[in-house]
Amino acid sequence: MRALVWDGTGLHVDSTIEVRPPGPGEVAVDITMAGLCHSDVSPMEGRIPQPTPAILGHEAVGVVSAAGPGADVPVGQRVVLTVLRRCGECRHCREGRPTLCPASGRPVASPFRRDGDVVHQFVRIGAFAERIVVAQEQVIAMPAEIPAPVAAMLGCATITAFGAVEDRARLRAGESVLVTGAGGIGLNAVLAARAAGAERIVVVDRNPAKERIARMCGATDFLIPDDPSQIAPGVRALVPGGVDAAFECAGHTGLLDAAIKSLGGGGRVVVLGLPPTGATLGLEVRDLFHDKSLLGCRMGSVDPHRKLPDLAERVLRGELDLNPLVSAVVPLEGAARLVDDLRNGRIDRGFLRFGSTS
Ligand SMILES: [Zn+2]
Ligand SMILES: [Zn+2]
Repeated sequence: MRALVWDGTGLHVDSTIEVRPPGPGEVAVDITMAGLCHSDVSPMEGRIPQPTPAILGHEAVGVVSAAGPGADVPVGQRVVLTVLRRCGECRHCREGRPTLCPASGRPVASPFRRDGDVVHQFVRIGAFAERIVVAQEQVIAMPAEIPAPVAAMLGCATITAFGAVEDRARLRAGESVLVTGAGGIGLNAVLAARAAGAERIVVVDRNPAKERIARMCGATDFLIPDDPSQIAPGVRALVPGGVDAAFECAGHTGLLDAAIKSLGGGGRVVVLGLPPTGATLGLEVRDLFHDKSLLGCRMGSVDPHRKLPDLAERVLRGELDLNPLVSAVVPLEGAARLVDDLRNGRIDRGFLRFGSTS
C-alpha cells in the first residue's frame, strides 16, 4: 500500500509498505483524510524524539475495513482516530479520564513493515497511510454527513482546544480570553471561547495574515508583538485587570510567561503547545498569587468517546462551523509543500487525502 514515510531527512511516498491484519481487539482503518498537525512536524524538527523510518499523522478519519478477534466495531463504520490507547481498567479509565491512563501513551509494536523491516507508527496511529491498524479503543464513530477534513480535525485540533476551553479552563460566559498562536489549535480555541460566550477574545500571533481568520472565528482583538514582553502590557491595555483565561498554543516559553503575566485574579493558563523537550520556565511565583492556575492539558483533558460525539452533534446542528479552517486538501505527493506552508503560517489546517475521495 501507499504511505508517506519520514526517513529522518525527508518525506517520501512509498508504495511498498505492508500493514499486518488486525490482531485481538484491533481494527484496520482505511484512511480517507488526515490533517497535518504541528505535532507531526515536531519529529521532523527534532522537537519530539521519533525513531525512523516512521509513518507520521494522527488527526484522521477513515472507514473500518477489518476487525480482529474480539473487536466489535462493524466493518464499514466511519471513524475518527484518537491517540489515546486506554487500558479501560485503571481508576482513571473507570472515572472517564483516559488522558491520565498510564497505558494510553505507551509505545506499541508497529503494524507497518517494508521489506520485512519495521516502519514505526507515530503515536500509535501513523495516519499518513492508506491503511492502519489500531486498538478498537482508538476509533470513535463519526456521522457520514460531516465533511472529511472537518471530521479529521475534530480528532485532534478541535477536541484539544474545546476540551481545554470547556473542560480544563471551564470558561464561563462573560469571561475574557487570551489565545497565543493562531494555528489550528489556537483558532479552534477562539471558536470554543466564542461558543462559551467569552466577552473579549484577544489573539496574539506574529503573522499579520492570521488576523482575518482569527476575527472570523471570534477574536475581538489581534496583537502582533515584536517581542513577548509586549504582550502582557498590550493585553492589560485592552482588558484592565487581566484576562480570566489564557491558552498558549504555540509551544513557546516566552509566550507562556506572557500569558501568566496577562492573567487577572482567578485566571488560569492552559498549556496546549508543547515546547521542545527540556524547555523550562523562569516563573516568578508571585505571578500566581490571587488564585491563578497554570494547567497542563493533554488532548483537551477529555474522554474522546464522550467529547467527540458531542462535538460532531454541534457541527451537525450548525452551531460549530469548522470549514473556514480547512485551507488545503492535497494528495500524498503534496505533503512536503503542505509542511512548508504550515511552518510558514500560510495555511490554517492542511489535509492529505487518500484514495478517490476528494
Ligand atoms: Zn495533533
Ligand atoms: Zn487505564
